[in-house]
Parts: sequence; structure tokens; C-alpha cells
Amino acid sequence: MRQSSRPCGRLAPSPTGHIHLGNAWAFLLAWLAARSQDGQIVMRLEDIDPQRSRPEYATHLLEDLRWLGLDWDYGPDVGGPAGPYTQSDRGEVYASALKQLEEAGMTYPCFCTRKELRQLAAAPHIDDAGAPYPGTCRNLNEEQIQDMIRNGRRASIRLRCPQSPISFDDMLLGPQTFSLADCGGDFALCRSDGVVAYQLAVAVDDALMGVNQVVRGRDILPSTPRQIALLQLLSYGAPSYAHVPLLLDEEGERLAKRHNSLSLRYLREQGVDPNRIVGLLGMLAGLEVSSRAINPGELLPAFAWSRLPRQDVRIENSHLRALLQ
Ligand code: GLU
Repeated sequence: MRQSSRPCGRLAPSPTGHIHLGNAWAFLLAWLAARSQDGQIVMRLEDIDPQRSRPEYATHLLEDLRWLGLDWDYGPDVGGPAGPYTQSDRGEVYASALKQLEEAGMTYPCFCTRKELRQLAAAPHIDDAGAPYPGTCRNLNEEQIQDMIRNGRRASIRLRCPQSPISFDDMLLGPQTFSLADCGGDFALCRSDGVVAYQLAVAVDDALMGVNQVVRGRDILPSTPRQIALLQLLSYGAPSYAHVPLLLDEEGERLAKRHNSLSLRYLREQGVDPNRIVGLLGMLAGLEVSSRAINPGELLPAFAWSRLPRQDVRIENSHLRALLQ
């Protein structure tokens, strides 16, 4: 696995809501991991899904992350050699990667409807990898494909997943091995409405933007073998990965964009000092013994993978009350 001496990390938010403390936690850790080794940071806006993304959230999240004290070397608002850094502007890049995979015989059209796929949802699967695709359309012949098209069925494009397992060494969780079947089987590269799938966009962007260190929430772990498989098929090196625990609310639920009171925007509007948020996140990450006002740069000397928790971390209501005081 490629590991240059100077890391290039990335922050890859989806503008589908306001950034909340759980996002801020993962972004702060990604920022610390790169900056503590004198590394660079790419900011990439993952607005590939036109139904879920909104431009105003994109504007707000850049403002909110800067307000928190994070910065980046390349991004939609600063430019850089591998731009554009907004996925909705990168359609041609993804189309050419898809073409490369099609020409290598690694893809097939899938005519299964959402309803048909939903019926698989009860099948066992890893976390949010989704139920394994049973390969219904994997071996359709040309005549069957033409019949489907004549009947007005629209196709998504799936990857014909290689059988061999994918291994990688997670910087936090240690050695990992998955079969792609465990991670949902043949996955979509492009939806039937033409929208490129997250897995393809992320794999290609990480490679072309020179990202060699990916730090993100452990909920995305089942995506990593899929992205590594795509990088291998496209002849790119894979970055190194760390999947960090999630922040949970007091009831043990994952923080979500619907928890408005935990959004950076809300906290900012309430006059909360961003350094107190960083201090709280630093304490929850085991980098500080107590929660004090501190900026991200001041946390750099304390950053070490060995200090971070391996289990999800609960944020207590008392922590939030203290912030808002
Ligand atoms: N854009 C994704 C999200 O906000 C993160 C993707 C990634 O880190 O690979 O959930």
C-alpha cells in the first residue's frame, strides 16, 4: 500500500444538511492525522446525489468548518491542481473511469427495480453495506438485455466484483480482510438515472487528488474494500485508511444531521466559542485530559493513533449544556 512520507488527507463532506458534532469529530481527527505529520488536506464536496445535496449546505459547511478552526490546502473555495473539487463538476472524470471498467469487461447492466432490491433488505449484511446483491442480472445475454431495454426498463451499471478478498491495514483498527460478497456483492457504479455511485466517485477522486490518507467514520468501513477493489481495477494505488469511532448521543444513537441542536451552525448562532467545541472533541478523543478551550493546532502535539478510542463515544447532555453556558 502506498504511503508517502508526507500524508495528504481529505475532508469529504456531503452537503445534505448542516455539519453536526459527529461530522466535526471525524473531520477534526482527519485534519489532526494529516497536519500532525506536516501533511496536506484536500477539501472535497461530495454533492454527487442531486436529490439530497443543496448548494446552501455546501456554503455553510465550508464556513462552519473554518469557524471551527480547520483549514485545507486545496478545495472548491481555494482551487488546486486536481480540481474541480466539487463532485457535481466532475462528471467527465467519472464517465471515463466507468468506460475503462466497461471496456475491461468488469461491468454489467442491472435492471432490478428498487422494489426488487428492497425485498433483499432482510438478508444478512455488514452494517450499512446493504443486503448482498444476488447477481440476478450478472449473466444476462445480449438478447435478454435488449428485451429489457425494449420493455422500457432502465439499467444501472454494476461492477462484476472480483472473488479475491481485499485486505488492508487500518491505522486504528489493525489488519482487515473482507470479501466483496460480505460487503454487498456486485455494487452499483452508476444509477439507472445516470448518477454516478459514491464508491466510484470517491475511489477515483482520492486517486486523482493525490489523497494517500483517508480518515473517516467506522460506518464507512464496508465501503473501503469496494473502493480498494476499484482502485486496483483502475491501476491506482490505495491510500492508507483509518476508520474512527462514531460520536453517539446520550441514548447511544448515532448523531445525525437531524439533531439540529448539535449542528455547528446552531452552536455558532448560540455564541459558543469554537475552541470549546474543539476542546470537548479533543477530550472525547483522549487527546486532552479535560475539556478546555483550545484550537485545533494546539491539539497537534497530542495526536497519536494509540490514544484514540476504539469504541464509539457518547456525548453527554452535560457536555452540551456546558458548551452552551
Ligand atoms: N461524503 C461522505 C459523507 O459525508 C464521506 C465519504 C468518505 O469519507 O469517503 O458521509
